[in-house]
Amino acid sequence: MSKKRLETICVQGGYTPKNGEPRQIPIYQSTTFKYDTSEDMGKLFDLEASGYFYTRLQNPTNDYVAARLTQLEGGTAGMLTSSGQAANFYAIFNIANCGDHIIASSAIYGGTFNLFAVTMKKMGIEFTFVSPDSTEEELDNAFKPNTKAVFGETIANPACSVLDIELFANVAHKHGVPLIIDNTFATPINCRPIEWGADIVTHSTTKYIDGHGSGVGGAIVDSGKFDWKKYADKYPGLTTPDDSYHGVVYVDKFGLEGAFITKCTAQLMRDFGYSITPKRILRKPRLRKFTR
Ligand SMILES: *Cc1c(COP(=O)(O)O)cnc(C)c1O
Repeated sequence: MSKKRLETICVQGGYTPKNGEPRQIPIYQSTTFKYDTSEDMGKLFDLEASGYFYTRLQNPTNDYVAARLTQLEGGTAGMLTSSGQAANFYAIFNIANCGDHIIASSAIYGGTFNLFAVTMKKMGIEFTFVSPDSTEEELDNAFKPNTKAVFGETIANPACSVLDIELFANVAHKHGVPLIIDNTFATPINCRPIEWGADIVTHSTTKYIDGHGSGVGGAIVDSGKFDWKKYADKYPGLTTPDDSYHGVVYVDKFGLEGAFITKCTAQLMRDFGYSITPKRILRKPRLRKFTR
């Protein structure tokens, strides 16, 4: 992890300009990127080279911002999404399929609750909601053989209850599944869930990270710590060949530190397209009333 202080990462993290390059992260407001030959393009398409060709998949501005958030959270890889809803949907759907089960704190944002209890249920993913104040035993009792993850919010919106991330992480790990934490309300300035054992962190950047109420967005950061290989039979999407990329096995090619985010980008962003467009957001000028 970087030795820089959080304040420094906020303004410099994830982007290191070279001699003569812009001091600030440039806004690459472009749908597409140029390539010289079809072969170059083919390599990008097949995940054999890293680079940019289409903003739905990757964009330098988004990658710099994601890298900054990843540093703030102390993770190994990150990505931006079009909203917090998209981030939480991706974080779960990247490792759970039809027929799987997830344990979630009942003290979560209403939109997330609806996404889980209604919409993802229609996709065949079942959720058990537990109290954010559950004991170890109560959490143990919620597990099923097909449980793939545990989910909660650092500080719940709107209940403002504070989750015992360490307890939830320990129990999740005891049962061989990752803990996904929505850190929207705390932000990495106040709490870094990875330091307490969380494996995946999500954000609605719409709230405090944006800060001026002008841009909807989301993010996912991976700690790189969850051992997908150890539980390979539970997470075949990460540990067996992906036919749509000529049989790439994400954990083998991108390691534990990169597999989750690479799969999420290569499959879910490619197919669902909840991507965010880098653009300058103009803030409304504050009108001052002059009275004489
Ligand atoms: C707002 C919010 C979301 C949803 O994010 P959007 O950017 O509105 O899609 C998810 N989780 C929490 C904790 C939120 O406050």
